[in-house]
Amino acid sequence: MARPGNKIIQAKLVLLGDMGTGKTSLVLRFVKGQFFENQEPTIGAAFFTQILSLQEATVKFDIWDTAGQERYHSLAPMYYRGAAAAVVVFDIASKDTFIRAKKWVEELQRQGNSNLVMALVANKSDLEPSREVDTEEGEEFAQENGMFYIETSAKTAENINDLFYEIAQRLAKAC
Ligand code: GDP
Ligand code: MG
Repeated sequence: MARPGNKIIQAKLVLLGDMGTGKTSLVLRFVKGQFFENQEPTIGAAFFTQILSLQEATVKFDIWDTAGQERYHSLAPMYYRGAAAAVVVFDIASKDTFIRAKKWVEELQRQGNSNLVMALVANKSDLEPSREVDTEEGEEFAQENGMFYIETSAKTAENINDLFYEIAQRLAKAC
């Protein structure tokens, strides 16, 4: 039996961002604890589930990863439909992917869901020596767009759980 006050929240989470930024790797790290240096750009399964238990709620994530459609920089409306959370990913070692992240955020905002919990993820933080995007730049852009900012590495697992916990916490607060 659910404890009083412990809500169950079913939340659709979508991933956006350029190809190669590590969207699939982030999800596989979170859901399966795995990482592959040679992650295939497209994978068969683009849908994952994971449950996070917080003090105040249990969040069941339905995670939608793209199966390569992001190559065309446009995702089908059904991809966004009903989403409670969105994660926009760029690669800290590629300024281009940060510039593109801004386009992905614009596309997200065109969907017109103002309640969406949004994260801006600077992935591949293990590539610090090749960094092309400053933390301050990322933080500033996130703040301007009502997102929270976090630097992760699917490779080392840095901040991966924190990313999803933060989203879960924000969803629990919003419910
Ligand atoms: P997607 O196209 O956005 O889904 O990106 P993938 O998850 O397929 O990752 C693209 C490439 O980047 C793969 O070779 C991954 O192994 C690599 N990659 C993903 N995340 C990281 C990371 O945090 N650090 C490093 N060094 N490589 C990563
Ligand atoms: Mg992928």
